[in-house]
Amino acid sequence: MKRPLPDARRDRIFHRDAHRCVYCGVSFPALELTVDHVEPRVKGGDASDGNLVTACRQCNTAKGGEAAWSYLARDPALRAGFLERAAHIWPRLRRAIIEAGTKAGSASR
Ligand SMILES: [Zn+2]
Repeated sequence: MKRPLPDARRDRIFHRDAHRCVYCGVSFPALELTVDHVEPRVKGGDASDGNLVTACRQCNTAKGGEAAWSYLARDPALRAGFLERAAHIWPRLRRAIIEAGTKAGSASR
């Protein structure tokens, strides 16, 4: 069970991302949005702003408990859109996403 973030932080992240899901790029009212951890809490991700992005309910459900880089590695178009929109994430997370995408291109999985 995810511990809910304080409303003020949620609002700040939504505002920063212009109420737009960083995965599908669609804008939603705040009620339809969630705050997603790029690096999941279970994998050691924290609740710092650079690890948090705005995601619509549908994309957050599709991503589930996966790390963003592993979820994005399967879909180059999705990954490109994410990297364009999620400009505020920590550089090391950005690198992980780019690297996972490069590897996926040559992997057999
Ligand atoms: Zn979405």
